[in-house]
Amino acid sequence: VDASGETTYKKTTSSTLKGAIQLGIGYTVGNLSSKPERDVLMQDFYVVESIFFPSEGSNLTPAHHFQDFRFKTYAPVAFRYFRELFGIRPDDYLYSLCNEPLIELSNPGASGSVFYVTSDDEFIIKTVMHKEAEFLQKLLPGYYMNLNQNPRTLLPKFYGLYCVQSGGKNIRVVVMNNVLPRVVKMHLKFDLKGSTYKRRASKKEKEKSLPTYKDLDFMQDMPEGLLLDSDTFGALVKTLQRDCLVLESFKIMDYSLLLGVHNIDQQERERQAEGAQSKADEKRPVAQKALYSTAMESIQGGAARGEAIETDDTMGGIPAVNGRGERLLLHIGIIDILQSYRFIKKLEHTWKALVHDGDTVSVHRPSFYAERFFKFMSSTVFRKSSSLKSSPSKKGR
Ligand code: ATP
Ligand code: CA
Ligand code: CA
Repeated sequence: VDASGETTYKKTTSSTLKGAIQLGIGYTVGNLSSKPERDVLMQDFYVVESIFFPSEGSNLTPAHHFQDFRFKTYAPVAFRYFRELFGIRPDDYLYSLCNEPLIELSNPGASGSVFYVTSDDEFIIKTVMHKEAEFLQKLLPGYYMNLNQNPRTLLPKFYGLYCVQSGGKNIRVVVMNNVLPRVVKMHLKFDLKGSTYKRRASKKEKEKSLPTYKDLDFMQDMPEGLLLDSDTFGALVKTLQRDCLVLESFKIMDYSLLLGVHNIDQQERERQAEGAQSKADEKRPVAQKALYSTAMESIQGGAARGEAIETDDTMGGIPAVNGRGERLLLHIGIIDILQSYRFIKKLEHTWKALVHDGDTVSVHRPSFYAERFFKFMSSTVFRKSSSLKSSPSKKGR
């Protein structure tokens, strides 16, 4: 944050970064539309498109109020194919990212990355380190082979990788799916890893309006876990298991399950206390554009029962119940997967955490991490409730 109160990243102000991203993506998506659709070839993964944006404009680019910058698009044809796989039309992608303001997230992680969400809640933009961008490039062919086989997954969906070059600095950003729609009020938010080493929200974090709680907070505050009906539990566990296998195969570590909890009963109590109008007046967001992007779709809830998923009143959340019997809707996704073991071993904290957690055999680290993560999610966080009927989204209706 600079003197004027605006966030800066690598000496670039947030408004400059947002402007450059919007201009750059606008150009590159438009440019792509002139290239005929075709199958993705292996070499498409290694293409980098580069275009210079002088502030006075050029015959290819508009004039703008920022410093001159260069915009690079990694693997444009490959990412176009992936966006298509998730049902995102070029016009919608352009509109979401370039035509409406990008909103800076106020509660980012510890790494210093800046996060933006698009006005329609659809996409998250995250600045990533050089190593992470490089890793994503290497990961792409294999990662998307997995997504192609199985688009229903809780793994992040990457829709674009870009670099803004300005004033001698490189700022790399990824565009990915947004796990927590802002239109849904989250009463609780957790970032869970399955580790206990320093996994408690700080005092400062807890003072925020919506703190990001961690593993130890979850164990303390929700000792009964989150109860799911057996079909939903089975679908979720199966998805997590498969996703962990993919992450392990790429030697990825240090990822988290991001969990947003919307409490239906608490919401109703709050509404009554406020004496607010009926539910019908509530702001309804426009229909989600991306396929398989809600939590419920990601775990194949509907497909498992062979019926269309009812998302109208759940906003795609996974129905659950807490220890007090309150009805919940869960929004979940695996995040922060761009750290591979090769790179991570240099990170002091992670090394200490792993030793603390009892893993001292280095070659096993990614599998140790995946196994512990899966075990924590499938036994401590999410639990099967025998008393819950399947399809609780229709409950009381
Ligand atoms: P660190 O490496 O220190 O954990 P980071 O900068 O890599 O931090 P992340 O762990 O990726 O950050 O995310 C930080 C926070 O940003 C999350 O706790 C979450 O609140 C938000 N966030 C990240 N990715 C998403 C996403 N795809 N959808 C919604 N919110 C997200
Ligand atoms: Ca993280
Ligand atoms: Ca990180």
